[in-house]
Amino acid sequence: MALDWISPADRVQALPPYVFARLDELKARAREQGLDLIDLGMGNPDGATPQPVIDAAARALQDPANHGYPPFEGTGNFRRAIAVWYERRYGVQLDSEGEALPLLGSKEGLTHLALAYLNPGDLVLVPNPAYPAHFRGPLIAGARVHSLMLSAANNWTIDLGAIPDEVAREAKVMYFNYPNNPTGATAPREFFEEVVAFARRHEILLVHDLCYAELAFDGYQPTSLLEIEGAKDIGVEFHTLSKTYNMAGWRVGFVVGNRHVIQGLRTLKTNLDYGIFAALQSAAETALQLPETYLENVQKRYSNRRDFLIAGLEKLGWKIPKPLATMYLWVPCPPGMGSTDFALTVLQNTGVVVTPGNAFGEGGEGFVRISLIAEIDRLQTALDRLENAGIRFE
Ligand SMILES: *Cc1c(COP(=O)(O)O)cnc(C)c1O
Repeated sequence: MALDWISPADRVQALPPYVFARLDELKARAREQGLDLIDLGMGNPDGATPQPVIDAAARALQDPANHGYPPFEGTGNFRRAIAVWYERRYGVQLDSEGEALPLLGSKEGLTHLALAYLNPGDLVLVPNPAYPAHFRGPLIAGARVHSLMLSAANNWTIDLGAIPDEVAREAKVMYFNYPNNPTGATAPREFFEEVVAFARRHEILLVHDLCYAELAFDGYQPTSLLEIEGAKDIGVEFHTLSKTYNMAGWRVGFVVGNRHVIQGLRTLKTNLDYGIFAALQSAAETALQLPETYLENVQKRYSNRRDFLIAGLEKLGWKIPKPLATMYLWVPCPPGMGSTDFALTVLQNTGVVVTPGNAFGEGGEGFVRISLIAEIDRLQTALDRLENAGIRFE
């Protein structure tokens, strides 16, 4: 029976359709037909959470002190572990009382920050393409999104000079993310300096998503926003354990930076949730304390896959620049083919799942994103199937 007497709120109905939805249906149908899917569509790391983290969680589970509501602001131990980690990584001191807040994954915080800081009609600057929460959060808040169009010609970095003065004056918040999902682009430190100067000049809250802080290769070290002088006055930065530590299902992230902004987010969240299960916060401390060798192995795993897939795609006609970070390849569709068409063609003919670039905004049209989330032998099978299906870049 159709519910004709009630419908979802405008803020839900106004959301652009999820391109993933049609892909999901087709995936389900392909599975029913017994097709062996190689799913390189999601940003969902394959493999287990590191054993020391699992062990720490198992121990913490046994402690009844962890079984009640956790403190709203996260456990002191986890917040202190965040501050220690941050200083070790970036040489920046944080006050664990107020400048670091644990989150139920960074997606939750990125979206709720929009609700905490944006009134209906407020103007937000968001790159396009972008990670969906960066524009969907503001849309849910009723804000107006001004897209900062990215392009291959500009190495997928934001062209601050292209932002009209009246837009910069009106904008209240700007989201950005380097190393970048979905394009794999990185931004030089000078860009971070420019963006901080821009935000200070126009009094814009900077929201940086440093999800791929540690998935960087070939000696490249991503910049953290808070390394830039003055950034803490106008910015916050989101981090997650999901990608680096294969903990996507655990839902642990955190935000660091300006204490007033963090307090605003915390005030909203106090009304919505109780934060992360304390046992998991205890395990998360262990993750942040894992030795460098763990990170080196993760980095090696992804960079090997990157190199392998780029070499294989080259034999099929693609010339793809090597991303210095993230777990993605950003791959142009064959000329004359749109993102959705190409992703569906690949799925139907090979069982390989890739994400159409337009899922990240119209600025991603003409590209697909391939996640490096399968072992080399599976990537080889995916390449073989592309070749046998005659799918090439030409
Ligand atoms: C994966 C991803 C996230 C989500 O992280 P969670 O902490 O699991 O919510 C946030 N931002 C970007 C850019 C991502 O790719």
